[in-house]
Amino acid sequence: MFKLAERIKQLPPYLFKEIDQKKKEIAAKGVDIIDLGIGDPDLPTPPNIIEAMVQAVREPANHHYPSYSGMEDFKIAIAKWYETRFSVKLDPASEVIALIGAKEGIANFSLAFLNPGDCALIPAPAYPVYNSGTHFAGGRPYVLPLYKENNFLPDLASIPNEIAHTATILWLNYPNNPTAAVADRHFFEDVVTFAHTYHIIVCNDLTYSEIAFDGYKPMSLLEIKGAKDIGIEFHSLSKTFNMTGWRIGFAVGNSDAINGLGAIKSNIDSGIFQAIQVAGVEALRAVEESSPAIRKIYTRRRDIMVSGLRDTGFTVSPSKATFYLWVPVPDPYTSVDFTTRLLEEAGVVVTPGNGFGDPGEGYIRLALTKDESRLIEAIERIKNIGI
Ligand SMILES: *Cc1c(COP(=O)(O)O)cnc(C)c1O
Repeated sequence: MFKLAERIKQLPPYLFKEIDQKKKEIAAKGVDIIDLGIGDPDLPTPPNIIEAMVQAVREPANHHYPSYSGMEDFKIAIAKWYETRFSVKLDPASEVIALIGAKEGIANFSLAFLNPGDCALIPAPAYPVYNSGTHFAGGRPYVLPLYKENNFLPDLASIPNEIAHTATILWLNYPNNPTAAVADRHFFEDVVTFAHTYHIIVCNDLTYSEIAFDGYKPMSLLEIKGAKDIGIEFHSLSKTFNMTGWRIGFAVGNSDAINGLGAIKSNIDSGIFQAIQVAGVEALRAVEESSPAIRKIYTRRRDIMVSGLRDTGFTVSPSKATFYLWVPVPDPYTSVDFTTRLLEEAGVVVTPGNGFGDPGEGYIRLALTKDESRLIEAIERIKNIGI
């Protein structure tokens, strides 16, 4: 056998292996599984975006290598959307870069700014790529635990001085996957002050900016005065437009940070198929046409699930944003025990909270990525087994 590189061996263990295996066994028995485990919208991509793509595919000019940093039209559309949505002005040439999905940009970013041994501040529970990207770059993660008593925000004041002084990158993600927490202006102001004090690059993952409910509008870190000196923001078209399979996203903000990421990317990939970027331009042009309907669907699903879970005896609050519910598991279960029980006895798949990092222990994450009738069925089954 070939020996794997240390960087792969040192990745945290994959916690879903046993659950994946069990899921297969149970599905093989013919059980009708309701999968609320994955954060992949069940809804289709809006038709205007598909139509733009179809036309762009037929255009021979789009069949060549795209530009590394993204088509000018796409970058202009991004800057325009940022100004309309967040009142933040961006220079499309130097402060915007197209990504093959936010995941790609997040993973590559550490290669541009971490030297081996450098410290990155990483929240937990969190989207796993902040951590794996740090590992691949040889960086050292310093964990910022997210607890309910802090509204799932990192406690910046608790970071020891010597850590803050040596840290290079701070990862943030609000609205948050998996906790569904949101951050307000006051928090982002503290972040900007902290980053200026310790000379840290702040990477805010704003993937869920348009999936928010009850009139709440998530803000951009870049709205804060001085944020562009220290910050970069990652976006995805995956969740906003039900485009997870298309692979398109972008990053915006500090031009040195954008430049560094571009230097890594131009040596690894060759950009995004232009037809997809043309579709991306159409998506951003019409965001206010597609998003309200999508938000309405998730709002109804959220309300159905929250009231169903409460009737069953769970303590759960309605998420202000994202299509997740972050639910405390009943005593005396661990996250994995309870996930296993839901799977074996109810045929319902959820994600154990500790899969996103140890501080996620005691929770499960439910994704509202199934239609209302399936959610109602899931609730019935959970009620039947009791908690
Ligand atoms: C889904 C998700 C991503 C990945 O987005 P892609 O553009 O599909 O790569 C990144 N960050 C968070 C927090 C996510 O939930």
